[in-house]
Amino acid sequence: MILPTFAFIYSNNKHKTEKKAVVRRIKYEAELDHNFGEHIAAHAYGERLMSCIQCGTCSATCPLSHYMDYTPRKVIAMTREGFKEEVLNSLTIWLCASCYSCVVQCPRQIHITDVMYALKREAIASGYFPRRLPIPVLAKAFFNLVKRNGRNTESWLLVNLYMRTNPFKMFKESILGLRLLLAGRMSLIPDRIKRRAELSTILKAVQAGKGASKS
Ligand code: SF4
Ligand code: SF4
Repeated sequence: MILPTFAFIYSNNKHKTEKKAVVRRIKYEAELDHNFGEHIAAHAYGERLMSCIQCGTCSATCPLSHYMDYTPRKVIAMTREGFKEEVLNSLTIWLCASCYSCVVQCPRQIHITDVMYALKREAIASGYFPRRLPIPVLAKAFFNLVKRNGRNTESWLLVNLYMRTNPFKMFKESILGLRLLLAGRMSLIPDRIKRRAELSTILKAVQAGKGASKS
C-alpha cells in the first residue's frame, strides 16, 4: 500500500525540476485494522465476504472499474485484510453505480454492492472521504434535509452542496438557479411533511437499533 511520507525528491527532466513525494509502498501488519473486514461484513449481509477467492470476475464485470483507483476485487481484498484508511479514502466506493453486475456474476455470491454501501456509510460516519468530494457531501446534505423536513428541497440541497464543496460554482450557476426560481421549477421554501415528529421517532428508533446491533 502507498503511504505518504515526509521526504521529497527532485527529479530533473529537460524542461523543469519537479518536486515528488517519496512514498513507502508497503504497509506493516501492525498498521492494519484487523476488525475492519468483520465490521463491514456485519453491515453488508457480508457473511460471505471472507470467502472471496479473488477471481477478479467482479472487476471484469464492473462497467466503472477503469475509472476506479482500486478495482472491486482489490476493495474486497483490502477490506478483508484491514486496509481501512485506504479503502475509506478511495474513490472506488463513490464511483460504484450500484448496478449489481458484480453481484450477479460473483461465483461466491458476495454482496459486493452492499459492501460498497457499507463502506460509504462508514466513510461518512468517520469523515474519511476525500475532502470536498461532492458525492458524500450530497448524500449527507440529502439525509439531513429529509431528516429535518421529511422531504428533499432541491434548491437547499444545491446550496448545501456548493457551500461545502465549491462556493464559486454556486455563483456560476446562480443565473440558471434564478431562471428556475422565476419559472416556478424550484423554490426556496422548504418542502415539509406534516407529521415530522413521527418521522423523527422512526429515525431515532433506527439509530437506536443500529447502536444495539453494534454493541
Ligand atoms: S467476483 Fe466474487 S469471488 Fe471473485 S474476486 Fe469478486 S468478490 Fe471475490
Ligand atoms: S455494483 Fe458497483 S462495483 Fe459492482 S459492477 Fe456495478 S458499479 Fe461496479
